[in-house]
Amino acid sequence: GRLQGRRVARIVRTLTALQPDIKNLSRDDLLERFAEWGEAKYRVDQILQWLYRQHASSFEQMNNVPKPLRARLAETYSLGTLRTAQKQGSADTTQKFLWQLTDGSYVESVLIPANPALYGESSDRHTLCVSTQVGCAYGCKFCASGLDGWKRNLTPSEIIEQVFCIERERPASADANSPSPRLVNNLVIMGMGEPLANYDNLIRALKNLNADWGGNIGARKITVSTSGLAPQIRKLADEKEQFRLAISLHGATDEVRSQIMPINRKYPLSELTAACEYYIEKKGKMITLEYILIAGINDAISEARPLAQLAERLNAKINLIPYNRVEGLPWERPPETVQDDFATAVGQHGVNVTLRREKGHDIDAACGQLRLKTERELTNSGC
Ligand code: SAH
Ligand code: SF4
Repeated sequence: GRLQGRRVARIVRTLTALQPDIKNLSRDDLLERFAEWGEAKYRVDQILQWLYRQHASSFEQMNNVPKPLRARLAETYSLGTLRTAQKQGSADTTQKFLWQLTDGSYVESVLIPANPALYGESSDRHTLCVSTQVGCAYGCKFCASGLDGWKRNLTPSEIIEQVFCIERERPASADANSPSPRLVNNLVIMGMGEPLANYDNLIRALKNLNADWGGNIGARKITVSTSGLAPQIRKLADEKEQFRLAISLHGATDEVRSQIMPINRKYPLSELTAACEYYIEKKGKMITLEYILIAGINDAISEARPLAQLAERLNAKINLIPYNRVEGLPWERPPETVQDDFATAVGQHGVNVTLRREKGHDIDAACGQLRLKTERELTNSGC
């Protein structure tokens, strides 16, 4: 019985998957479809209003759309949301969300207030860190997201819904100065997965989140973080949107970087740097180099000079982040004095460097951990 139940569940999932989610489509895609159906153009904009302004979670809700059209939409498309499996943290500080997807997999998002209540200020400006894959294939040695390998890519709608599920739950307070008040006004693509390895779905999601008919989040407010997929960095540079780019560097020499990031053997620093230069040239934009400080691995003062030289060559700013412990991994963050000395040494070369040590960030400690823990508990309990 149980086996058959599972089989039925799989068939249902397959059938649902055959219906593409409507948020995977662009306005142009919908216009084309509506023209085929003989529907008026303004209906497309009505639907988009429901999806991206009202955050509708069903076609039934769309009460200014004629019933037959709603029925046709429901036959043709799915309109998926995410199930909140777990929430950590409180609404006025950093909050972590664990989502369960329709196939049972888990991913997470982290919501960070711009002025954490820590500093006695309330704020309705928030940064959301979103995931792009279930697991990760790149296996950086220090990271929780890749520990159990890669499972699958997220669809555009699953990326978009990480924003919308939170906004449904916490509508931003209306502000007379802002035409569309919203909770999330900054996106960082730094959750689970390598965003540029899920390039097409990522770009679709970001274009829909950025479009004025869609999420209306400025491209300059969207930062894509990558472990260094050089060819896809060039592709991103060729997109017309001005998305921002952050590189997970973590090693300023091939020797150090290859030790902790296997991707460096495929795209060594010379290739990565050339791709970044192409990006900067095409976009006229500054990039950020992320450098987590791991005790005894990349925190020697001798690494400060090559790091500064790389930043200077790329006219990039450097973000130093003390490593967050991951259960089951041997890596540690260096003592604060070592962190300070490293930051000072880098700064002495005249480059822009920040050491991020805010308390509120402890909870986004190693995105990927909450999901890993949940999946392992489920596996151990025989689910
Ligand atoms: N795959 C992409 C985006 C997701 S990782 C990338 O690697 O850039 C987001 C950031 O978190 C990366 O800079 C990653 O190196 C960093 N990170 C991963 N594990 C961490 C940990 N335990 N402590 C601190 N930062 C970590
Ligand atoms: Fe994947 Fe990024 Fe983690 Fe590396 S740091 S394993 S690329 S999520």
